[in-house]
Amino acid sequence: MIFTCPVCGGKLNIDESRAAKCDNRHSFDSAKQGYYNLLLSGGDHGDNKEMVLARRSFLGGGFYEPLAKRIAELCRDSIGNEAVILDAGCGEGYYTEHLSKEVKPKNAYILAFDISRDAVREAAKKRCADEYAVASSYHIPLPDFSVDMVLNTFSPQAPAETLRVLRRGGFFVMAIPGEEHLFGLKSKIYDTPYKNEVKDTYIEGFELILREELRYPLALRSASEVRDLFMMTPYAYRTSKEGRERVLSLDSLECEAHFIILIYKKV
Ligand SMILES: [Zn+2]
Repeated sequence: MIFTCPVCGGKLNIDESRAAKCDNRHSFDSAKQGYYNLLLSGGDHGDNKEMVLARRSFLGGGFYEPLAKRIAELCRDSIGNEAVILDAGCGEGYYTEHLSKEVKPKNAYILAFDISRDAVREAAKKRCADEYAVASSYHIPLPDFSVDMVLNTFSPQAPAETLRVLRRGGFFVMAIPGEEHLFGLKSKIYDTPYKNEVKDTYIEGFELILREELRYPLALRSASEVRDLFMMTPYAYRTSKEGRERVLSLDSLECEAHFIILIYKKV
């Protein structure tokens, strides 16, 4: 097992009862779905079950498939054989699944984690990664210099932690929303919608080697598709009652996908 003990950082070995144990006797049970909870703080974090299920349903409609395929291709073309890839903030495992199809022929070893237990539970059912864990991007249970590539799609990230776990020359692949992403949805929520702010792409310790934009129309054709999209975005928390009711009363929505894919190399 490559994931390490979150308490002492020691190597975890799996015993006959499937529990993961380090030499300092810290022990973590395997969940039924095969993941390990390596988050030290108790309680629930990250996306709740309702959001996870909305996203699973929306992504199952194929709306973000062009993005998932492109990310997987770029990852495949960047790594050598036998690479270790980390999907940091894997959600319910949609991008991990696409990634796994592309990189399996290269014999890649995939690690995936998310801070949301509900999300990891869904992800682990897909069995696309070699190891799944509940963990935080701010305290990744991995040794220094242990992975060749880190993937982060729309998930909070801590650049210093990413840098720590990557080998020299390793890649950090990130997808972020572009300026126009979901502008059609925002136009329904807000009286004066603003375009998304795209922050400076500089990250200390990394060299940006690729920046690619991907945009296409998203045509939602039912109230449930509109609802699923709304529920998987941060707007589900932030929107006023009126805005929320406006969106949930729609039975179609012309929208747009606008993504920016960034690939960094650790210098
Ligand atoms: Zn330990």
